[in-house]
Amino acid sequence: MADASQGRTNVPRSFEFDHQPTTDQSFENALEKARQGTRLTIDDGIELLTTGTDRPGIDVERKERVLEAADRRRAEMVGEEVTFVANLNNNVTTACNTGCLFCNFKDRSEQFLEANDEEHGGFTKTPEESREIVEQALDTGIYEVTSVSGLHPALALDDEHRELLEADESRDLNYKSPEKYEIDPGSYREQIEAMSVGGVHVHSMTPEEAYHAQRGAPWGYEEVYSRLQDAGLDSVPGTAAEILVDEVREVICPAKISSGEWLEAMEAAASVGLDTTATIMYGHVENEAHRIEHLDKIRQLQDRAGAITEFVPLSFVHANTPLYERGMIDGGATTDEDELMIALSRLYLDNIDHVQSSWVKYGDEQGLKMLSCGADDFMGTILSEEITKRAGGSFGEQRSFAEYVEMISAIGRVPVERSTDYRQRRRVDPSDPPFGPELGPRADGTPLVER
Ligand code: SF4
Repeated sequence: MADASQGRTNVPRSFEFDHQPTTDQSFENALEKARQGTRLTIDDGIELLTTGTDRPGIDVERKERVLEAADRRRAEMVGEEVTFVANLNNNVTTACNTGCLFCNFKDRSEQFLEANDEEHGGFTKTPEESREIVEQALDTGIYEVTSVSGLHPALALDDEHRELLEADESRDLNYKSPEKYEIDPGSYREQIEAMSVGGVHVHSMTPEEAYHAQRGAPWGYEEVYSRLQDAGLDSVPGTAAEILVDEVREVICPAKISSGEWLEAMEAAASVGLDTTATIMYGHVENEAHRIEHLDKIRQLQDRAGAITEFVPLSFVHANTPLYERGMIDGGATTDEDELMIALSRLYLDNIDHVQSSWVKYGDEQGLKMLSCGADDFMGTILSEEITKRAGGSFGEQRSFAEYVEMISAIGRVPVERSTDYRQRRRVDPSDPPFGPELGPRADGTPLVER
């Protein structure tokens, strides 16, 4: 048995976790299983992610062999197409009291109260404003609107939920009436209805938001998702997953739902017929054992529910976050770690077709490289991205179709515009500009944004 805890380079060793990257497997055996397409165990995964627990740090030659195996698996599973979606981010509010230590997206909700005169940099949008933003973006050709927000205390699922919360505001349910705030965000139902305009695909309501939408109520996640589906919700982002091992969540987001609750919410969304995505946010206090255990839980969830259309590894952007500012970590994941995370996502998750490379997190050059490490999806146009930007990310807020076509063609792959659920796909001919979206309800091939 060996210990690869020195595989991570940027993490202080002060976290005494029960889960450690130790195995009884060898790197060579694990790699052989990966090459043959045999389902990997947690020990196999740890061996590959650490490039062997028999030596400290990452072995570059072994890493290349893991990446090669993942790239080959990608080609076998999904071929040479690289997909992207025309989408818009419309986050409703930054007001949130959850206090996750990796997050710089939120602002304390007290700052948003009518009685508060202090300036703050946050925002809340009314349902009418959300509708207007989506309506305008539809004309530019988007297919999807993604909406992920802070847990504003005035947000309730719908009128029935609000009545229930208003009946006893003294209960500790993180609720305050909308009249107390400068701007009323409406209810989740009203926001979803407002964004569900003109046939756009609405991708919203993470498990954490679904928890907020049922706080203090007797109904469960199925009821929440089913009511939101009636309001126009089409699919659910599997964010707020972070690392699905509770000893890590207790350090980075102690006020968030547990990993069991996250999985329960995702299964409920699937059971009412909603597609979901799934994510991992890595590169903070966790070790390789946590990362592989996370992948294992996602694989099991997919075996049970089968609704995950893509897996999205999110490398932690640390610069402006409390975790970094308080000295709990020294930085994020290294490039080697990023590449191995993409590769293991492909190799371990044998039941999820698509692995995304996030250019918002990795940047253009490295994002493109990830497409040869196991990834086959290159995210979306994202016409605004406040979450990563506020955490110190610097890789821009939008991407034109022309840039997508040029970058993907340059590595010899096939650019493909897709729908959120990947069921609609359109190959883009690189010799036939101009390049614009054609799948959105009002898309007509006109470029979405200028280069
Ligand atoms: S990650 Fe989400 S829940 Fe946590 S503090 Fe940020 S906005 Fe709030």
